[in-house]
Amino acid sequence: MLENVRIVLVNTSDCRNIGSAARAMKTMGLKNLVLVDPIELPNGQAQALAAGATDVLANAKVVATMEEAITDCGLVVGTSARSRTLPWPMLEPRSCGQKFVEEGQKYPVALVFGRESSGLTNEELQLCHYHVAIPANPEYSSLNLAMAVQTLSYEIRMNFLEAEQAQFEKKESDVVAEEESEYPLVEETERFYEHFESAMKKTGFVQPKHPGMIMTKVRRLFNRARPDGKELKMLRGILASIDRTAEARNK
Ligand code: SAH
Repeated sequence: MLENVRIVLVNTSDCRNIGSAARAMKTMGLKNLVLVDPIELPNGQAQALAAGATDVLANAKVVATMEEAITDCGLVVGTSARSRTLPWPMLEPRSCGQKFVEEGQKYPVALVFGRESSGLTNEELQLCHYHVAIPANPEYSSLNLAMAVQTLSYEIRMNFLEAEQAQFEKKESDVVAEEESEYPLVEETERFYEHFESAMKKTGFVQPKHPGMIMTKVRRLFNRARPDGKELKMLRGILASIDRTAEARNK
């Protein structure tokens, strides 16, 4: 689903921020970068700041308008450091990450970032389904563009890892549920004890004349372990092999 996450940078003026944003994205497993009308196309300085993420930079798509960047997306979230005059549905960074992971399984989802100087315009913000603000220091809440990309990409990654873990655990429990066989009926367990006792008589472990408490203790042991149908079958197989060995010896 991370393949479906698109980071959109609108009208960025300093291409070094684009390089840093590419690096922030790649560390969190994101690679789809779209640049809307960048003032400066990524140059050597941007590449230097992208470090190991120059591939993200090289594959960045450049488009003229925000509409072009988001047209095929099912979910668009705009980022903003300050609250705007027109109230819009808001998301916390964490629930934003969750939404991206959920909806990113179905269609492309875009997270849109604004200009270093003035953020996103009201018109651009109104193209978004939700707005997200990083709850930063109210006295100084404006993060560097690439750091805002880092923070929100991290939240997407955390939710992605959580979802992956949950899926893995579900698969594990499905396997256990499939493998678990039913508990045997009393009559099947009784046949097992009879078989156990007769096998132990063949080996000589139980003396027919002085059986003692062995079978009671064996019952208590298997009662505690409560073998399921498959396990009981295996135990019967073990007893059968003991039978064969003892019979061969007793011949
Ligand atoms: N002076 C601008 C801030 C621009 S910072 C303004 O007043 O809007 C550049 C971009 O980084 C913003 O457009 C936004 O996309 C992102 N950003 C910075 N701080 C943020 C925050 N606290 N929450 C969400 N996004 C933030």
